[in-house]
Amino acid sequence: MCLWVRAKRNNAIRSGIFNLQSRPPGVPIGRTGLNPSKKNMNEQMRQDLVHLDDLLEKIKQQGLDFIRQLPGRPTTAFSAIELNKTLDEKGMGGAAALKRFNERFEPLMVGSGGPRYWGFVTGGSTPASVAGDWLTSIYDQNTQSTRGQGDLSALLEIETIQLLLDLLGLPEDFIGGFVTGATMSNFTCLAVARQWIGKKEGKDFAKDGLNGKIKILSALPHSSVIKSLAMLGIGSNNFEKIAVMEGNRECMDLEDLEAKIIALKGQPFILVTGAGTVNTVDYDDFAAISKLRSSYDFWWHIDGAFGAFAACSPNYKHLLAGWENADSITLDCHKWLNVPYESAVFLVKEQHRVLQTETFQNSNAPYLGDPLENFSYLNFLPENSRRLKALPAWFSLNAYGKKGYRDIVENSVEMARLFGHMIEDDPAFELLAPTRLNNVCFTLRGPENQDKVPGFLSRLNDTGKVFMTPTVYNGRKGIRAAFVNWMTGKEDIELVVAEMKKLVAVHN
Ligand SMILES: *Cc1c(COP(=O)(O)O)cnc(C)c1O
Repeated sequence: MCLWVRAKRNNAIRSGIFNLQSRPPGVPIGRTGLNPSKKNMNEQMRQDLVHLDDLLEKIKQQGLDFIRQLPGRPTTAFSAIELNKTLDEKGMGGAAALKRFNERFEPLMVGSGGPRYWGFVTGGSTPASVAGDWLTSIYDQNTQSTRGQGDLSALLEIETIQLLLDLLGLPEDFIGGFVTGATMSNFTCLAVARQWIGKKEGKDFAKDGLNGKIKILSALPHSSVIKSLAMLGIGSNNFEKIAVMEGNRECMDLEDLEAKIIALKGQPFILVTGAGTVNTVDYDDFAAISKLRSSYDFWWHIDGAFGAFAACSPNYKHLLAGWENADSITLDCHKWLNVPYESAVFLVKEQHRVLQTETFQNSNAPYLGDPLENFSYLNFLPENSRRLKALPAWFSLNAYGKKGYRDIVENSVEMARLFGHMIEDDPAFELLAPTRLNNVCFTLRGPENQDKVPGFLSRLNDTGKVFMTPTVYNGRKGIRAAFVNWMTGKEDIELVVAEMKKLVAVHN
C-alpha cells in the first residue's frame, strides 16, 4: 500500500514519526499533569479525578473476574429491568455509577464473548485485544490523518491494514480502513462500486445523485448487502439473482452467471460474491470469476466477513484462491479475528482511490486541503470523527501473529466438525448440509419434527449454557451453530450435546 508514501507530505510524515520517537512515551510536552484544584472543574469530576486509581482498579478487578468466569456466564439474560427516565441533577460520581450499573445492568450482560455463544457468528476478544481496546478509550484519538498535525494515529490504522493483508496473503495493492462492522464495510465498498458504474457512464453519482439503474448480480448476498443496496439508493429489490449451484451448495452457478452477464450486452455491473455463507460456509469460485474478468468489465466485490480468515490456515486457504483479483473485500474483525465489537475492515484496490475519495470526500471543508494529496480517513470512508478503531486488532495481531490466527481458525473448524459428527451420530438430529468449515447447520430428524424445531431451540437457549440461532435452509427449519471463538474446546461441545440429548429425551 503506497497511498501515503506517494503523497507529497512524505517528509512531514517521516519527521512526525521521528519527533514522536525522540520523546519517551508518556512524557508530556510542556506543562505537566492534570491539576485537580483547577477552579473551573466540575466538583463531581474533580472528585473522580482524585480517586481515578480506585475506580480503574475496581474496573480492572471486575473485568478480570468476568473474563475468568466467562465459560460459566449464562449465554441468555434471564431478567429484565425497569428503565430509568430521569437523570440526577448533580450526578453520583463514577464509583456510584459503577454500583448502579452492577445492580441494574450487569446481570443482563451475557457471555457472548465466551466459548458457547454460537449464535450469529460471534467472536470473542483475545486478551491482547482487550488491552488495545481499553487503551483506545484512554488515548481517545480522533483518527484521521497521516500528516502529523493534529493526529497521526492513522499510521497505526494503515499499519494494521498491512498486517492484515500479510496475515491473509493478499497483495499490497489494497488500501483500506476500519469501520464498525461488515455491514458498513459492504456499504463502503458498494458505495465506491456505485461511483465506478457512474464513471463508466460519464456520470458522477456522488455529486449529482443517482440516476439510472445500477445492475447488481449476486447469488445469495448476506442480508447486510441487501440493506446496503437500500441505503445506497440502489434499492434492495434491484439485484439480479444468479442461480445457486446444484448439490446442496450455496455458491453461484457459473454458467448461469455467464449467461446473465452476456444478456447485459456490455452494460457495466457489480458482481457481489461471498467468501463464506452464514448457513453452510460455502465460497464462490474466485479462480473462475477471476478468469471472467479478462472477458467482461465489472466491479467485483467479495463479502468475506468471517470466511476470509480461512486464508490464515494452509489447510483452507485454497477456498480463497483468486480472491486477490477482486476490486473490494469485506472483513469482519469482531468475528474470527476475535477483537471486541465494533471492528471491521474494507479493502479496495489502490487503483480506485480517486473513486473512493470522490465518494467520501468532505469537499466543503477548506481546512481539510486536497483529499488526494493529503490523505485523511475523513475523505475515505463514511464516518468523520472516529476512534482509533484499529488498536485492538493491532494489539492482537502483534501479540499472536500468524500462528495465533492459524490456531484459532483450525481449532474452530475442528470444533465444528466434532459437533457435526455428534449431530450425525445422534438419531434425534440430522445435518442439513455437510459441515464445510466452521458452521454446523442441522435440524431435528424427520419431517414430522419440523414444527418442533423453534420450541427445541428456544428451550436449548433457555438453559443459558449455549446460544444458537434459527435458520431456514432449503425450505426446512433448522439451527445454526457458528464456531469462531478462540476459547471453544472439546468439553464445550460435549456439554452442549449432553444438554441437547436431555431436552430431546424430555420433549420429543
Ligand atoms: C456477519 C456478516 C455480515 C454483517 O456483519 P456485521 O459485522 O454484523 O455488520 C455481513 N456478511 C457476512 C457474510 C457476515 O457473516
